[in-house]
Amino acid sequence: MKSSIYLDHAAATPLDAQALVAMTPYFSELFYNPSAVYLAAQNVRTAVEKARSDIAQVFDVRKNEVIFTAGATEANNLAIHGVMTRYPVANIVVSAVEHDSVMAVAGTYNVRKAPVDASGVIHLDSLKKQIDDNTVLVSVMLANNEIGTVQPLVLISKILSTVRKERQHAGNALPIYLHCDAAQALNYLPVLPNKLGVDLLSINGGKIYGPKQSGLLFVKTGVELAPLIFGGGQERGLRSGTENVPAIIGLATAMQKAVALRISEAQRLKKLQAKLESDLKKSVPALAVTAELASRLPNIVHVTVSGFDNERLMMELDERGIACAVGSACSASSDEPSHVLKAIGMTAEQAQTSLRFSMGRSTTEADITELVTALVELTNA
Ligand code: PLP
Repeated sequence: MKSSIYLDHAAATPLDAQALVAMTPYFSELFYNPSAVYLAAQNVRTAVEKARSDIAQVFDVRKNEVIFTAGATEANNLAIHGVMTRYPVANIVVSAVEHDSVMAVAGTYNVRKAPVDASGVIHLDSLKKQIDDNTVLVSVMLANNEIGTVQPLVLISKILSTVRKERQHAGNALPIYLHCDAAQALNYLPVLPNKLGVDLLSINGGKIYGPKQSGLLFVKTGVELAPLIFGGGQERGLRSGTENVPAIIGLATAMQKAVALRISEAQRLKKLQAKLESDLKKSVPALAVTAELASRLPNIVHVTVSGFDNERLMMELDERGIACAVGSACSASSDEPSHVLKAIGMTAEQAQTSLRFSMGRSTTEADITELVTALVELTNA
């Protein structure tokens, strides 16, 4: 049966209609390679550079600080690999709840993991202790894709400023950079790289009603990166390959729209989140909300339903036309609890009862009521 209630926006968002309209000509009549020199191609180059300027304006950064990538996985890989290969004996510190696209690449270097509390918030004191004279990069996400917890990036940035001052005093010339995976954040949180105090920041078009495999890495002026992909030297030599022009145009349109809708959508979904959580807690006694007290994204509700297998519940909800996720929709299916749930202290048994509902622009109060009714019936059956 086709899902009529879609509660998996943290995995993918539908393409925004305006983004589709903006992209369409670049698949057909405006197909030219932006690096070609004739006028028709130069017009396409102008469109790509306008998209870059529009995004720079949204972020309040310089235009040449925006590097287009194919999604957030690539942006995260470029940030981490790009710094770490330049400093092969240095180390990287990441939070214990990063997305696999950070964890996996960080794991190929000398990595340390900073623990989180039961709500998934990074322990700042532990983070400070993990940083030593050889730490060149710290990577902490803005908002978690499984449980929605928001991390205190500004405080982390302050810790790094102190480390920089101490290194200057001690004559240690090693830089220390802060990378932030903001893939889940842009729809609901202010994402201004310079206000957050980050040096590198990843964005994902596929989570903000833009096209999949679109994204970018903000690279602060002065941060030197090694490329991941070598070739024709596009994107300041950091991402060779003919630009995916429709994706770039779609990303810029989607970002502008997401930022314009941010406050109203965050307020609307905050109310729906509160209603969903209180209704579920009232009517499904076996249910507990994960990270309930933490500062969280307004669209994610992660729950455990004690005594109920999550895959079975998810499939039963699917049969009723409600699409949601078990664990993290980003990782390949596996029986192991996700590293995020482990990091917040969940047992494997608890993790196997967990579901993630992630709301978005299409979610209505009626959807929430229907979900609660379905869960009440399924857990009383
Ligand atoms: N980072 C976070 C926090 C995510 O949620 C995701 C995807 O869900 C990614 C990175 C990777 O995005 P993509 O697979 O589109 O490259």
